[in-house]
Order: sequence, then C-alpha cells, then structure tokens
Amino acid sequence: MIAAAGLLAVHNKTILILGGTRDARDLAAALNENYRVITSLAGRTKSPKMPAGELRVGGFGGAKALADYLVSEKIDILVDATHPFAATISRNAAEAATLANIPRIMLQRPPWQAGAGDHWEEFPDLQAAAMGLKSNTRCFLTIGRQELGAFKARENIWFLVRMIDAPTTPLSLTNHQVITGLPRASTDDEKKLMQTHKIDTLITKNSGGALSAAKLDAARELGLKIMMIQRPQVPEGDVVETVAAVERWLVNH
Ligand code: NAP
Repeated sequence: MIAAAGLLAVHNKTILILGGTRDARDLAAALNENYRVITSLAGRTKSPKMPAGELRVGGFGGAKALADYLVSEKIDILVDATHPFAATISRNAAEAATLANIPRIMLQRPPWQAGAGDHWEEFPDLQAAAMGLKSNTRCFLTIGRQELGAFKARENIWFLVRMIDAPTTPLSLTNHQVITGLPRASTDDEKKLMQTHKIDTLITKNSGGALSAAKLDAARELGLKIMMIQRPQVPEGDVVETVAAVERWLVNH
C-alpha cells in the first residue's frame, strides 16, 4: 500500500528541465514515463533536437519571471541541465527555485581532464585566453558564436571558427574562416580538419562529455596546444553528473 501511494505521488509531479544539452534530452527521455516533463530551451539553434515530453522555447525574462513561470505552471521540481558555461540561466534558476520554494538540482557532466600527451594550458575565461594567444598562430575556435568578440583585437591570428548554424552577421574577427556543423564524432575527421587548415592551437571551453571530445584526441595525436577555458562557478546546491543520479535524487524529493 505504502509503495503504491508513493508511486502515485511520483506520477503526479511536474518537472521543468532547463535544457539545451544532450544530458537534458537523455533526462527528459528517462523521466517522461513517470512524470510530466517540460523542457525549456533558450532558442539558440535553428533546428534543435526534440526532447521527450513537452517543450517551451525562449528566455523567461530573468529570475523573477522564471519564478513566476514555476508558480503559474505548478512546477514541483526544477532540474538545471543547461550547458556548464550557461552561467546566467543557472544563477537565475537557483534564485527562482528559492523564490518559488521548490527543490532544484543541477545535472552537469564531469569536466575533461588533461592526460598523458596533452599540451593544455588553462584559462579562467575567453578574455584571458585571447591575451595569452601567441601572435601568428593558426587557431581553431570551438566556443560557439556568442563570445567571439573576445578575440577581435587579435588581428595577427588566423581563426578557424566552428559554429552550429551559419552566422547571420559578419564576425568581428579579422582573419578567419567559418565552418558550420556539430563537432565531428571521429578523431580522424577532426585530425583531417586540423591538418587541412594547418591549425597549431585549439581553444575550447571545458564542456566535458563524449560528444565533442574527438577534437581533444585529435589535438593530442597531432601534438597541438590546447587552450582550455575553465568552467564558471555553479550556484550552491545539489549537483550530480548522471541521469541515473538525478533519478535517485528525485525519489527523495
Ligand atoms: P546563459 O548565458 O546562461 O543564458 C542567457 C539567457 O538565455 C538567460 O538569462 C535566459 O534568458 C536564456 N536561457 C538560457 N538557457 C535557457 C533555457 N534552457 N531556457 C530558457 N531560457 C534560457 O546561457 P546561453 O546564452 O545559452 O549560453 C551561455 C554559454 O554557454 C555560451 O558560452 C554558450 O556557448 C554556452 N553553451 C554551449 C552549448 C553547447 O551545446 N555547446 C549550449 C548552450 C550554451 P532570460 O533571462 O530571459 O530567462
């Protein structure tokens, strides 16, 4: 009897997943059978992969507006499964969950670690990496499109810029070429790309995860320098690394 009542309570919960990552999609798929699941996307990419359950797209308008949404949509639990570098929405999520008085957990995949044969230099942010970049290098930038401005003063560098969708306005970089698409899954493909463009330095955020790790293997095999941007701090509160860990946490909330 007690178990059945507990199960019924679980089925009635509504969970808001702040998404935009593979982990968020995996989580929505795992929870969709037992909960009402709504995934929220910022709307950054033209054709995002669809999560299981319900979907809403676009910013909320800040922490207070997110709190209002949590209340009006009767959200019971907030899961922040956004990208490790999406620091603003994570801060807003923490504040909103407090305002709405609901539990919140963060799902963040573990960061990459340098291993044998890697030539990593770590930087706290993109501005520091831009300052630390040696003149006359050929640099592969895999940081998305929003923060390319950090490199605009570096006129004596050539950049290969990879982004998911083609830019709609000219980039602020002087010498560059844009390639569109997701990171290549195969190390050989990433190696070929780096060799074709005579890349000597890779700049990347420490996103972690397997989906975009082939570029790190390629850079290691080619002996290239990696300028690794460290993650921003996460707000205080529970943080787990896997979908299964979120599921275990949910049982207690
Ligand atoms: P952000 O800077 O933390 O968020 C900026 C604003 O976007 C938020 O204040 C919020 O607007 C809205 N927002 C973000 N995520 C949302 C969500 N899931 N649902 C609804 N609204 C959301 O995040 P970001 O602009 O998305 O990205 C910041 C950094 O993370 C960038 O450096 C980007 O390259 C990186 N990123 C990488 C990936 C990837 O897959 N590689 C994916 C996402 C982000 P309101 O304040 O109006 O609510």
